[in-house]
Parts: sequence; C-alpha cells; structure tokens
Amino acid sequence: MAKIVVANWKMNPNSLSAADKIAAGYVKNAAVDVVVCPPTVFLEELAAKYKMLTWGAQDCFWEESGPFTGQISPLALKSTGANYVIIGHSEQREFNKSTDKEIGKKVIAVIKSGLTPILCVGGGIDAKSRTAHTKAVLKKHITGAFKEISKSMAHGSKILVVYEPPWALSNVSGNKPAPMKFVESSIAYIKSLVKAYKLSASPAGRAPTSYKFLYGGSVIGNNISSFVDQSYLDGFLVGGASLRPKEFSRIIASISKT
Ligand code: PEP
Repeated sequence: MAKIVVANWKMNPNSLSAADKIAAGYVKNAAVDVVVCPPTVFLEELAAKYKMLTWGAQDCFWEESGPFTGQISPLALKSTGANYVIIGHSEQREFNKSTDKEIGKKVIAVIKSGLTPILCVGGGIDAKSRTAHTKAVLKKHITGAFKEISKSMAHGSKILVVYEPPWALSNVSGNKPAPMKFVESSIAYIKSLVKAYKLSASPAGRAPTSYKFLYGGSVIGNNISSFVDQSYLDGFLVGGASLRPKEFSRIIASISKT
C-alpha cells in the first residue's frame, strides 16, 4: 500500500506568490500519496491550480456554521478543495490550548463533512520535555479524543493518527528525530489504545473505520532512509522540510523506492 506523506507548512509562507512557488516545486510521484496543508488563506487558489496534489487544512472548528468569530468550519474547508484536516497538532495544543474533548469534537466534525482527519497525538506542552511520560500523555490524548469520537459516526471513515513528540520537531531538536525504537514502541502503544475503541469492528451494516499510523518530527532527506522500511509506519508528517521542495522531493523519492 502506498505510504502517505502530509506536508505541514505551518504558518508559512506569508504571500500567495511565495506559496505558489513552493507548490510549483512539488513533483508528483504516483508511488506516494502526498497531502499538502498550506495556510488556509492560500488553499483555494493552490488547490484549483495544482490539481495533481491532494490538499488539506491545518485545523478547523467543530461546528458547521454560526456565531464563532475567527473559526473556520470543515464545510468551508471542503469548499476550497481540501480533503484532509490536521487536528490536535502539537502547536495547537500548546499555543491555542486545545483540549482533548475539543479535538475529539473536531475529528467528528471533519468526518461528518466528508473530509479525513489527521489526528496528531503525543504533542503539546505536557510532552515537551524528552523525559515526559510519553505513555501517560498518549493515553490522555487518545482516550480523551476517542471518548468523543466513539459517540458518533466514525464507523466507515478513515482516520490518520500521527505520533509527533514535540521535542523531536525540527524547530526544537535541530532536525534530530525521535529514536527509532522509541517511535516503534509509541506507535505500538497508540495502536493498542485505538483498538480498544473497537471502531475497527463493523457494527450493523457499517464498514469498519480504517486507520493509518504516521510519525512526525524532523523527517528530512538525510534521515528518511532509516524510517522508510519500518512496516509499522504508514507514512509521515513533514513540517520544515516540506517548505523546501527539493528537500521534500528527496523524501518522496526515497519513500517511493520502497
Ligand atoms: C510538524 O510540526 O508537523 C513536523 C513534523 O515538523 P518538522 O518536520 O519540522 O519536525
């Protein structure tokens, strides 16, 4: 199955022309599914121009419309051409103080709008130090979000779950990813927690929910080769390197060879 790579541009760049230059440097590679998440204001233009790429947003609100100044509904994102939405990114947890309950509600709203959620876990201020109790943080994030998610229509949908330790993000670690053994055991733990919600089992007449498990944190051209052969990973979330099309293409090219 093709691996999936999510390009998270974060709050970069600051103009449509600069965003266009980055997108123009992306090379389509049929062997890898690439989802590009630029700042929302550029989504519609880029998605219309670069139809060979798949597009996503970096966050949304949990309601469809209404008096929620400054928020963006998943339906509005869908209308721009987005197919995916990142929810619960480490920086949203840290700077916007997103709670697990809110994150769960956002995941449901994204699914109900016909989009695919990219649920990030393991991030935020609680996990910022390397010595953080990773399992406790993961348990809190997953049980908190899935308490909401499992109440609703998640069956039959697709959810991408990303493990992103905040201390391994490139702007914090200087491009040092988390150790492989650590990623492997954290992903195994995430899978065991998600399974407990039994959304993979099909209730009356509904298809089971499908999951993909990704890692994010300092994935760059120089270290992707050590990650690509890990069968427990379905893909990667790439931040900093996704703003540099040549670097990003190196990542994609390495993945496509596996
Ligand atoms: C991210 O924050 O989504 C991320 C994975 O960042 P980076 O690749 O820059 O570490």
